[in-house]
Amino acid sequence: MKYTIAVIRGDGIGPEIVDGACRVLDAVAKKFGHTFEYRDALMGGAALDAAGVPLPQETVDICRAADGVLLGAVGGPKWDTAAPELRPEAGLLALRKALGLYANLRPAVVYDCLVKASPLKCKILRRGVDIMVVRELTGGIYFGERGGDDTRAYDTEAYSRGEIERIARKAFDVAMLRGRRVVSVDKANVLASSKLWRKVVREVAADYPDVTLTHMYVDNAAMQLALDPAQFDVIVTANMFGDILSDLAGAVTGSIGMLASASLSESGPGLYEPIHGSAPDLAGRDAANPCAAILSAAMLLRLSLGLTKEADAVEAAVRRVLEQGVRTADIATADTATADSAVEGETVVGCREMARRIAEEI
Ligand code: NAD
Repeated sequence: MKYTIAVIRGDGIGPEIVDGACRVLDAVAKKFGHTFEYRDALMGGAALDAAGVPLPQETVDICRAADGVLLGAVGGPKWDTAAPELRPEAGLLALRKALGLYANLRPAVVYDCLVKASPLKCKILRRGVDIMVVRELTGGIYFGERGGDDTRAYDTEAYSRGEIERIARKAFDVAMLRGRRVVSVDKANVLASSKLWRKVVREVAADYPDVTLTHMYVDNAAMQLALDPAQFDVIVTANMFGDILSDLAGAVTGSIGMLASASLSESGPGLYEPIHGSAPDLAGRDAANPCAAILSAAMLLRLSLGLTKEADAVEAAVRRVLEQGVRTADIATADTATADSAVEGETVVGCREMARRIAEEI
């Protein structure tokens, strides 16, 4: 089959990690007999330099016409002093809006061989951590009515039945592709919006008899993520709770260079990107970890193209390369980034070599 993928390399390490992800996608195409047509598009600082705006209309058009969008990262010191509407992040916010991305999926996986990177004790992690946080992205308190002055201020958490229904459905659909367990996180003992959330999620669950649904208050969910993260499969939650819990779940893995994400719309293309930024400190040094971008590409295969076997192959290749002891500096056991200081059994490689090895495994 032939698929079109919009590719936004972005700024800083963006181009390096996206090149790594495309290399891995090329290996998938070759092995499974697909054609991936990449359509390059500009966003962020690169777009500001070339076109004077952080999100050219042409980029929106290319993305809308694609089957999925792969993004590196945007931003950097060069554009830090730009006016708010001309900052690189403004491009990303505008693209999310243009594509109607209402569901944000953030996996948090602790790989056995990277267990030392986690701030949690091995005994807590021994059951294996593989969590998917599904966060509602376009509603809730970040978009509710707000106001105030120096003496009093307020924000509003509001959800409609429709908003809850579609994110719940997305979470159950994702759970069907994984462990078939959903924990819905809310604060239904206090908040009216959470009471409706819980009711609607329960109703949606009736359409998914193969998925087990449980409910958890957000304060307990935070505690459980630190005490026993292995108990979770899919967590579905509102915008602000998801913002906080997805960072907490990511922190449990201990490796920012390994964390992928997907943002999905109702019917258009999804946007796939690492959760990290453009890491200007590493840019141009072939030192970044491309795994988050490569795992984002795997999510694109699975969720936008429906290519399950292919996505499994990418994730398995990443796992195998890590098990062989291949590390970029950020996930190496040694503290310093040079190959000389690597500990026994580990080979510290650059961004290109890491991607090459993962592609070769495929
Ligand atoms: P960052 O995520 O870029 O970097 C934080 C730390 O993590 C740095 O030490 C960096 O070297 C390290 N790191 C990040 N990705 C890595 C990788 N793949 N491999 C190895 N190490 C990695 O966050 P920051 O420094 O706060 O932001 C830098 C720039 O990125 C800013 O301009 C910010 O606005 C932008 N940013 C963009 C996005 C995005 O595009 N979605 C997200 C966050 C930040």
